[in-house]
Amino acid sequence: MPVPILLYHQIDIPPAKRVPFRSMIVHPDAFRRQMAWLKRLGYKGLSLRDAVPHIEGRESGKVAIITFDDGFRNVYENALPVLQEHGFTATNFFVANQIGGRNAWDIPLGAAPAPCMSASQMREWAALGHEVGSHTLDHVHLLDVPRQEASRQISQSRDALQDMLGMAVTSFAYPYGDENAEIRALVRDAGYAHATTTERRKALLGDDDFGLPRLTIRRNDSWLHFLKKCLT
Ligand SMILES: [Zn+2]
Repeated sequence: MPVPILLYHQIDIPPAKRVPFRSMIVHPDAFRRQMAWLKRLGYKGLSLRDAVPHIEGRESGKVAIITFDDGFRNVYENALPVLQEHGFTATNFFVANQIGGRNAWDIPLGAAPAPCMSASQMREWAALGHEVGSHTLDHVHLLDVPRQEASRQISQSRDALQDMLGMAVTSFAYPYGDENAEIRALVRDAGYAHATTTERRKALLGDDDFGLPRLTIRRNDSWLHFLKKCLT
């Protein structure tokens, strides 16, 4: 059965101004309603790690994989309690050099500054059963940097997160969805088991483990729109 892999960024009250990337900030009430819908419809929300048996077709059942990019603190504050309430797990892809920092990669483009989780918040996220994935060291465009730098961004972020956590990091998300066969190979060689892109469709049996598609959930998605993304 095709599995939806949902992609969120920030869960917070969106700024009133029309700032860039405002559409990526989902209101906490909307997120709560979306998780409640999944539960009501019999879906289990799982991290990528927890959903591997479903992706590989070894287990069946209604599953939605919940992922967040960038490791924002507002996910810890506003989404984590909701996930706990529903008994769901999720994956957050952290920018290793911005743990305790902020969205430094987006601010030059006009985005509102937003803090990232601290190391202790990330550890708590992991201790509650949620997955920590990597999203490089600095949120770089992997296709625009030299191959050696791409390799460093991919492997050193894994090392850094593993050192902070004391556990294995096996999932990766390509910043901006920038990837090709060479980048996928670098991710595989660095020791990851899965990587997600921003290709928009559900994951199917037989998809490349290093090219899993995702469905972006946006601020102005209505509940109907959300359900369509998950169910159809
Ligand atoms: Zn990102």
